[in-house]
Amino acid sequence: MAENCTHDCATCGQDCAEREVPAGCTHDCSTCGENCPSRNGGSIRDLIEPAHEMSEVGKVIAVASGKGGVGKSMVTSLLAVAMSRLGYRVGILDSDVTGPSIPRAFGIKERAKSDAAGIYPAETANGVSVMSANMLLEEETAPIIWRGPMIAGIVKQFWTDVIWNDVDFLFVDMPPGTGDVPITVFQSIPVDGVVVVASPQELVGMVVEKALNMTNAMEVNIVGLVENMSYAVCPDCGKEIKIFGESHIERIGEEYGLPVLAKMPIDPQLAHLADVGAIELADTSYLDEAAKKIVEFCKD
Ligand code: ADP
Repeated sequence: MAENCTHDCATCGQDCAEREVPAGCTHDCSTCGENCPSRNGGSIRDLIEPAHEMSEVGKVIAVASGKGGVGKSMVTSLLAVAMSRLGYRVGILDSDVTGPSIPRAFGIKERAKSDAAGIYPAETANGVSVMSANMLLEEETAPIIWRGPMIAGIVKQFWTDVIWNDVDFLFVDMPPGTGDVPITVFQSIPVDGVVVVASPQELVGMVVEKALNMTNAMEVNIVGLVENMSYAVCPDCGKEIKIFGESHIERIGEEYGLPVLAKMPIDPQLAHLADVGAIELADTSYLDEAAKKIVEFCKD
């Protein structure tokens, strides 16, 4: 502890074990993302941005993962399809800006439209509203080579400048990991719950723990865990083959007190439908219960 400590960290520049507010705190919380007791008695979520004034969004569900390639976008797409089959109006905000796969899975080729009022999401064949960075590019296949702050800015605009007209559930396909962009998303968009997607391999390591720690620090609640690529079914004998090893999701769920929402197999039909832009034709039975659990979670 600093000599003559008054326990008023705001008037003292020294770093010590007692320090609760960041050194150099100006008490202007709008210019600082730190979550500290000086945050005007509030929380890190005070930085949440208002949605577009013409938007009507019920609940916001983020779909996150510790790393890329585990099927986060697949789970986002199928949850959206399952939820829309339950009769809800659904939107997908694709914030995985550098790896946007949502428009492709839904067969959306059009560019985003805008006018003086704002930007309009595209609508899929079955009425799911979608906004993605891909829809801003001249060429769908052009790589997005923007720096972090620019990406974070775009994602924020997908919330503040896009007119989300009357959606009950807005799914946010998160960028993978725990970096800058996911943090900005959690700080700017009022996420009601997070679905964490992982492969069996990841569940063994620290990746999921890191993602859970981030959501904890961001003060967002987790709906539950989805294990993707849990197993594959042999087309000849019907046996379940655990390609990535034994499942650990129950143990992780228990350890963190989180429900297991689903265990989804590797299903070539799903990959095919996503590739040809027809994910809305998919059998969503792996995630139907998860969709209902999200509805229940949002009632609390
Ligand atoms: P992420 O969003 O985590 O980067 P994607 O959802 O884009 O991952 O999935 C990566 C690839 O794996 C895609 O080609 C996708 O179609 C495929 N994929 C994801 N989950 C499954 C699954 N359960 N069965 C078959 N293919 C899958």
